[in-house]
Amino acid sequence: MGREIVMVDLIGQYTRLKDEIDSAINRVLLSGKFINGPDVSCFSEEFAQWMGVKHVIPCANGTDALQLAIMALQLQPGDEVIVPSFTYVATVEVISLLGLKPVFADVDPNTFNLDVNDVQKKITEKTKLIIPVHLFGQCADMEKVTHIAEKYNLKIVEDAAQAVGAVYHYSDGRSAKAGTIGDFGTTSFFPSKNLGCFGDGGALFTNSDELAARAGMMANHGQRIKYHHDVIGCNSRLDSIQAAILRIKLRCLDEFTEKRRHAAAYYYSQLRSVRGISAPFCSNFSTHVYNQFTLKIDLSDRFHIRYIRDKLQNELKKRGIPSMIYYPIPLHLQKAYCSPNYPMGSLPVSERLSETVLSIPIHTEIKVDELKFITDSIKTIMNNILINVPVSNNKFKWKKAILPTNLL
Ligand SMILES: *Cc1c(COP(=O)(O)O)cnc(C)c1O
Repeated sequence: MGREIVMVDLIGQYTRLKDEIDSAINRVLLSGKFINGPDVSCFSEEFAQWMGVKHVIPCANGTDALQLAIMALQLQPGDEVIVPSFTYVATVEVISLLGLKPVFADVDPNTFNLDVNDVQKKITEKTKLIIPVHLFGQCADMEKVTHIAEKYNLKIVEDAAQAVGAVYHYSDGRSAKAGTIGDFGTTSFFPSKNLGCFGDGGALFTNSDELAARAGMMANHGQRIKYHHDVIGCNSRLDSIQAAILRIKLRCLDEFTEKRRHAAAYYYSQLRSVRGISAPFCSNFSTHVYNQFTLKIDLSDRFHIRYIRDKLQNELKKRGIPSMIYYPIPLHLQKAYCSPNYPMGSLPVSERLSETVLSIPIHTEIKVDELKFITDSIKTIMNNILINVPVSNNKFKWKKAILPTNLL
């Protein structure tokens, strides 16, 4: 192999696109239009076209995108927002910063996404918004989320930061890209996301002219006409250099996704039958874009799970294979967000997943010899570990991974 295995290979991808990207950056440098240059509006239009959505509002990062969406929806202090506990912190952070009340719901143990039955239980007369997160690259069950939102008159903001390009399939045959279904969708162009720039960036999606106008105004100091500030806004911009880079990467995004899926298919073929772990489950209502390939330690005993995950991670590291735990502590147990409403044990699936998951390298540049080395290593390590550990069935009953051939 002769090169270091990495979780995400940003240098390799840049090197492949170097000429095109360098000349685009140079073009922006020579234009002098670093903010709101033509690349920003061109990118927004091209991205809207690709997403199949009416409006793309670019902004400074994915966290801002969530914040701007909530600001544009004009929620009132004290309003309740339902979010999954098993997600990245950004999703809940903005809720609290805006004086709203985050209400944590549990997730489905197979898809890692919002458990709609638990959402139903968490609804009160103060609930105004649900934020489904399309975690690791596949869509939450949007048909059910939409149904519940309609029933209780709630808004939906989809956090699609990890799922750009994933397609949701409705039961009636229609389909839509992740982020285009709710009142707003949001995404991040953080370098390691599937569509990443070379710094920070983000965007909102909406099909509503009114919401698009309001979010755009919020991102621009609350003004529609310069120096006329109608509402309290903030400053959140995508800069021209990032937009120029994103225009190039957008043209490669389908190819990027194919590469991630090829790597995933290899992992499935090799890891499906390894005792003690299970590969990601693919729902039948969404394609998967594999921002992460997340294994679960598939054993019943809690002590053994933690021990085995640590051991697997350490042994991989010794062989030069990185892995990451996304996410080690669910949000309802974080110091900043814990409350008596959510004691330990209150969201059992999120808690169990935090002890169970391990994400292994997946990116656009990964090679077959690397994949083989990684899967061979996992097989050997698991075999060695499990000699000393009784394997009984997991009481959580993970569904065994199925090869997602129909939706690949
Ligand atoms: C990355 C990410 C964000 C935030 O994006 P930033 O651009 O880093 O602010 C929000 N939600 C999820 C699920 C993410 O993965």
